[in-house]
Amino acid sequence: MKWHTTLALIAAALTTACAQPTPEQQVINDAATALGGRDRILAVKTLVLEGEGTNGNLGQDMTMDAAGQAFQLSGYKRSIDVAGGRARTEQTRTPNFAYFQGQQPQKQISGVDGDVGYTVAANGTAGRASNAAAKDRRAEMYHHPLTLMRAALDPASKLANPRDANGQRAVDVTTGGGLTFTLAIDGSTKLPTRVVSMTDNPNLGDVAIETSFADYQDVNGLKLPARLTTKTDKYQTADIRVTRQTVDGDTGNLAAPEAAASAAAGTGPPPATVTAEELAKGIWFLAGQSHHSVLVEFGDHLVLIEAPQNDTRALAVIAKARELRPGKPITQVVNTHHHFDHSGGLRAAVSEGLAVLTQAQNVAFYKDAMTRAHTIVPDALAKNPKPLTIEGVDEEKTLSDSAMTMTLYHIAGNPHADTLLMAYFPKQKLLVEVDAFSPGSAVQPYAANLIENIKKRNLQVDRIVPLHGTIAPYSELLKTQATTTH
Ligand SMILES: [Zn+2]
Ligand SMILES: [Zn+2]
Repeated sequence: MKWHTTLALIAAALTTACAQPTPEQQVINDAATALGGRDRILAVKTLVLEGEGTNGNLGQDMTMDAAGQAFQLSGYKRSIDVAGGRARTEQTRTPNFAYFQGQQPQKQISGVDGDVGYTVAANGTAGRASNAAAKDRRAEMYHHPLTLMRAALDPASKLANPRDANGQRAVDVTTGGGLTFTLAIDGSTKLPTRVVSMTDNPNLGDVAIETSFADYQDVNGLKLPARLTTKTDKYQTADIRVTRQTVDGDTGNLAAPEAAASAAAGTGPPPATVTAEELAKGIWFLAGQSHHSVLVEFGDHLVLIEAPQNDTRALAVIAKARELRPGKPITQVVNTHHHFDHSGGLRAAVSEGLAVLTQAQNVAFYKDAMTRAHTIVPDALAKNPKPLTIEGVDEEKTLSDSAMTMTLYHIAGNPHADTLLMAYFPKQKLLVEVDAFSPGSAVQPYAANLIENIKKRNLQVDRIVPLHGTIAPYSELLKTQATTTH
């Protein structure tokens, strides 16, 4: 090697060593030093977190603003192969509220291995998660200071937008794999305080998933948080207290189960199947899959009860309704309650020009939901914006003309949700409800209250039309009490 080449190399090395880090690099350098140093961070291969905590009940609590329902977690174990991009979480969750499946503990296993997301059922059967769920789990792997810092220190990552945020320093990190996160560090300790990433939620649109870190402990030459709290938008979804942290221990097998790896990945909800059964003149049961709707014909218009699940289901149901009565406009959709699986098609219904009738406590939430940004996964309303017309029902409302009479009642005091409406057809002696009574289900924790509401209102019911399961005689609802009280 010629001497001037050698000198040039030395000069280049000196320049690199002496160069001032950019402000974004400074945030990462500070955090790396606080966590135990760059080399120590990069040497880590695996991390196992064990502990306990709670999961929230996002979109399924008593009202949208309620936060009293939670699942207590025991046996929480999160194993991360930080170098291999694989993670698996095992936990046993126990609801602190009256739950459909009963209040017994339920074991859950979920994971991600590269592009494959999976769950393992209690009986050991593995299933593949949707692509969207797999993507969320890949992102979730970086919702920890160690994994995100490893990514930030990788030359393939891009750092941007260094800034002050309420006494903290924040920087955006885009990984070599194309995932973007905001990392915030404490202004004085320089320890990471939170990681934020954006994802799509069908009901809430573009949402921030934010994990906050606290209670840092010394673990094998690293500082690692023992408290991890996660929110989706403003709703807390997990609060984990780690009681044992193992760096480079045995993670067990983190490969996706063969049954999941070989299955086709779901790219979206399955195609909708909508069947139509005329229950009485002008009343159709639109069923076919897990979440049903009911179509009601008035003199010069139609009213739909329920736009459930997602755009796919709701648009298929609306199309079926138009096919059954092509000459009449569908003017309104009645929403049975705010739970995400029952309100997930409301935005699609609004995009089709339907006005919303719902229990009064949901009005503010739906006004917000209809105006939220859906840029990550544009839905029907994002592509075809329409103003929302909405009316709240407090305790009851009757819709009536010469052709049809239907009264909506609040199912008051039901432990399933505070926002439930049922629809009663006095002439036909039909009652449409959902979740309060699901015919055929082994556990009926909400049925006693439904009976109370029916008796209190003096309703004459022959048949229950449930929006889950099959139509049942009223006697079957009464039987739930005979079996649960003896
Ligand atoms: Zn529900
Ligand atoms: Zn339901």
